[in-house]
Amino acid sequence: MRIVVLAGGIGGARFLRGLKAAAPDAEITVIGNTGDDIHLFGLKVCPDLDTVMYTLGGGINEEQGWGRAGETWSVKEELAAYGVGPDWFGLGDRDFATHIVRTQMIGAGYPLSAVTEALCRRWQPGVRLIPMSDDRVETHVLIDTDEGRRAVHFQEYWVRLRAEVPAHAVVPVGADQAKPAPGVLEALADADLVLFPPSNPVVSIGTILAVPGIREAVAGAEAVVIGLSPIVGDAPVRGMADKMLAAIGVETSAAAVAAHYGAGLLDGWLVDTVDAASVAAVEASGIPCRAVPLLMTDEAATTAMARAALDLAEAVREG
Ligand code: GDP
Ligand code: CA
Repeated sequence: MRIVVLAGGIGGARFLRGLKAAAPDAEITVIGNTGDDIHLFGLKVCPDLDTVMYTLGGGINEEQGWGRAGETWSVKEELAAYGVGPDWFGLGDRDFATHIVRTQMIGAGYPLSAVTEALCRRWQPGVRLIPMSDDRVETHVLIDTDEGRRAVHFQEYWVRLRAEVPAHAVVPVGADQAKPAPGVLEALADADLVLFPPSNPVVSIGTILAVPGIREAVAGAEAVVIGLSPIVGDAPVRGMADKMLAAIGVETSAAAVAAHYGAGLLDGWLVDTVDAASVAAVEASGIPCRAVPLLMTDEAATTAMARAALDLAEAVREG
């Protein structure tokens, strides 16, 4: 079975671990969000690609969900001693090495997809990880500041401002000019199953779908498309996805996220058991829906979630 997963960072990566356990023989291709990418200290940082790579490759800081295990912070401290910022983005010493290798390869002319493949040769994530595009796409968030309405980089909004000010719009700058990376459209065309893990619907999956050709390829794929809600009990399980949903005028509920993707994309949707009351509304919109536990509390729970997605796909296929 060929499975394609459109993934952001933590939510996508943790789900993928369960999927690998639930479908050990499947060939899994991950299309990773690069709208979160940021240039810091002259280095290209790809937070979502790295979270997937480190999580599946055994290098992640488990408690934090991002960054390397056993990290030290000497470079950050030395930069601060020089008064060189920003100081709000956490790059540890081990993590720095990844960004140095990536930036060096990009400088030598390799596209991000080839660089990602090279980095994965070390980490052996057990999936094929492809960035959504080799072209630069940068998510910006429109906020009100003392100097008026301004667009700030997504990381500045998310990490520095902790999404505490209202967002008026979310713009994937450059997406309209971007092309899907080599292998992305082919993987979608050849897939038996496409999964939307419980990743952020706006700034993770939404950004991937904003690359021209990808939304069309998902909608037109022969594969069954199943999504898992990142919203449980009308709140994000982790992070501030509610702020991003508000910015695009979508209510923070499992049913509203399903309606936002729509029956044109989704062939099935999983909500948490606490949201079982919304199953009927989702089904009324033409999307088969089931309520199952959707909290990735441990590996067993996560594997069960992936299995539920595979089961729903099977049921949809048998129609
Ligand atoms: P990010 O790039 O690191 O923000 O990660 P993603 O976009 O892949 O995933 C973020 C989303 O994952 C958030 O909206 C969370 O609500 C969701 N999430 C995190 N943990 C869980 C979980 O255990 N269950 C579900 N259903 N969603 C989760
Ligand atoms: Ca992200």
